[in-house]
Amino acid sequence: AKQRGKAAYVRYLPEMAVPVLAHMQLGGELRRALDEGEFELYYQPVMALRTGRVIGVEALVRWRHPVRGMVPPVEFIPAAERTGLIVELGQFVLDEACRQAAAWLAELGPQALQKVAVNVSARQLHDPGFVGDVLAALEEHALPTDRLVLELTESAVLRGTQVSLALRELDGHGIKLALDDFGTGESSLSLLRAFPAAIVKLDKSFVDGIEIDDADPAARDARQAVARAVIQLAGALRLDAVAEGIENEEQAELLRALGYTLGQGFHLARPMPAGALAELLREQVAA
Ligand code: C2E
Ligand code: CA
Ligand code: CA
Ligand code: CA
Repeated sequence: AKQRGKAAYVRYLPEMAVPVLAHMQLGGELRRALDEGEFELYYQPVMALRTGRVIGVEALVRWRHPVRGMVPPVEFIPAAERTGLIVELGQFVLDEACRQAAAWLAELGPQALQKVAVNVSARQLHDPGFVGDVLAALEEHALPTDRLVLELTESAVLRGTQVSLALRELDGHGIKLALDDFGTGESSLSLLRAFPAAIVKLDKSFVDGIEIDDADPAARDARQAVARAVIQLAGALRLDAVAEGIENEEQAELLRALGYTLGQGFHLARPMPAGALAELLREQVAA
């Protein structure tokens, strides 16, 4: 006899119907968007805080929706993670970032850009093909392995031996690993022992308000203490530290005084389309 559809066994929970449906629709939309080539990458410079030079870039995915316009990742990455489409979307991001970085280096020379960083979700790390896919993207575009940074959050890294094996393998190939949103997790410090990180990225929440000396001095002091602890830790472990989310010159000044040499944030440069970033790199090479 013909098997009955799986759906017949699912108990109907009315209160779940709307969000589940919305997620399913978004999931289908994302599939279509990927097939139609609606995703593109913006690039935000990572800058030397003293000289203002672009040291690297972080690739940030955007969805150019035919009706809704430019959709930010917060609105679709969670759904892509739930549906598993993040594996394919992440592969697109990786491939496109490697292609673009290799093209910039070919045009402007090896000094133009040290590194390109790509965000990686937990789900991608669990995919058994991940390491092979990373290496294939680098090889296809002839991008040297030490030019690529993979940005991982603590929650992505914490889960499972499969993940730590993959990370060690990537590290063995010379690919740089960065701990993103550093300081926000529960075990940032102990994680660094187990994790072959080359870079820590101080989370924006510790940079926000770090310069303000009136409203809440205790909160400000706490942020400064974290920022100081992270740069000291990075120094001791010989990691690069990048301060994220710098929005004004006072913050940049304070972070410099604490010893930060690398930063990212709207005050330094916003995420921008590839063409605009290329212009910036050309000006820098010409200067
Ligand atoms: P993230 O990796 O922490 O990236 C930094 C986010 O902070 C970016 O938001 C960037 O535009 C924003 N930002 C940078 N400087 C400033 C600043 O000075 N002020 C403020 N208010 N924001 C700043 P975006 O592009 O919307 O990305 C949000 C998050 O989405 C990322 O956080 C990352 O977790 C995720 N994401 C983005 N692209 C990808 C991707 O290709 N794959 C995966 N798995 N996740 C991605
Ligand atoms: Ca990131
Ligand atoms: Ca971050
Ligand atoms: Ca974040």
